[in-house]
Amino acid sequence: MMADSSTIEVFRSRLTEKGYEDLAKALRSDELMKSHTSFRVGGPAQIYSEPSSKEEIIALIDTAKALGLPFFLMGNGSNLVISDDGIDGLVIRLGENFSEISSEQDPDDPEAVLVTACAGTLLIRLSSFAAKASLTGLEFASGIPGSLGGAVFMNAGAYDHDMSEVIEKVTAISPSGEIKVWNKEDLDLGYRKSRFMAEGGIVCEAVLRLKKGDADEINSQIRTYTEKRTKSQPLNFPSAGSMFKRPVGHYTGALIEQAGLKGFSIGGAQVSEKHAGFVINKGDATAKDIDDLVKHIQKTIREKFDVELQREVRFIGRGFQ
Ligand SMILES: Cc1cc2nc3c(=O)[nH]c(=O)nc-3n(C[C@H](O)[C@H](O)[C@H](O)COP(=O)(O)OP(=O)(O)OC[C@H]3O[C@@H](n4cnc5c(N)ncnc54)[C@H](O)[C@@H]3O)c2cc1C
Repeated sequence: MMADSSTIEVFRSRLTEKGYEDLAKALRSDELMKSHTSFRVGGPAQIYSEPSSKEEIIALIDTAKALGLPFFLMGNGSNLVISDDGIDGLVIRLGENFSEISSEQDPDDPEAVLVTACAGTLLIRLSSFAAKASLTGLEFASGIPGSLGGAVFMNAGAYDHDMSEVIEKVTAISPSGEIKVWNKEDLDLGYRKSRFMAEGGIVCEAVLRLKKGDADEINSQIRTYTEKRTKSQPLNFPSAGSMFKRPVGHYTGALIEQAGLKGFSIGGAQVSEKHAGFVINKGDATAKDIDDLVKHIQKTIREKFDVELQREVRFIGRGFQ
């Protein structure tokens, strides 16, 4: 793998040769990932890019592969802990540059509308777009701070609803580099799982089928969910939401509380006093603090209750793989 300071210059010239001059110019080196994660932790990415089309994503990946560099693709960074030592190779972030939304009447159902959005679109924006158009189905997503791509990858959900209920089809770049359209049935969507999680692939665009509804009811449902979240979650501290998946037959927060770990901290990382299922950054946490705390919680719960807590949040970067 190439790793010296000229790597970015070689990367730039390869992209320029392929005709992607603007993309090449906009590459950044040693971009601090803590600026792009909701946990506010994470060291530098060797090379960082925010592409605005499928073609640009493919050009970036092809170049990384040709130079023997690893790459990591992220959305809004709301389900990540990135190592303090950073990430080798290329980080591709799908964000505002890749966030178009459009909609059309569903030709097969007069009561439905098909909403198409690029992977970098924030779920919060999509949910508000739907509410404004009196479309129901995305109310549950109004407080999930991820991108559409991250939400498809995670099959994000809340309040007994998840993305699988609204996804119609997904356009993605397969691990072998082809652009393919996957129908919902082929996405293997389950509790916080999808085929992209198992096999790789980059979600570029998703079509969501939303039903025509009543604007007042939609807005009232969103207000109810927002109040619930504000009451129960530590939203005034950086975090990545629930740290663990729900173990069958148990509630994670209750187990952690019963183990006496509510408020327990290591360095700047703390088990939230408001919701024990959340690990929060009290202000100066490192990724290592979070990792150490998570391991301590897992060990304690294993010893006390014989329950294995699986992380929902993904730990990425040097030393975490
Ligand atoms: C305060 C708070 C509340 C939260 N509440 C909820 C909740 O109620 N329900 C819930 O499910 N989650 C919740 N989350 C977690 C998080 O918002 C979701 O998991 C979200 O779907 C992650 O999206 P992202 O764009 O931030 O993904 P990232 O964190 O950037 O990435 C997460 C994973 O998705 C992959 N990925 C991202 N984009 C793509 C893409 N386009 N193609 C392929 N892979 C991709 C990344 O490689 C990574 O492995 C919460 C987080 C916070 C901070």
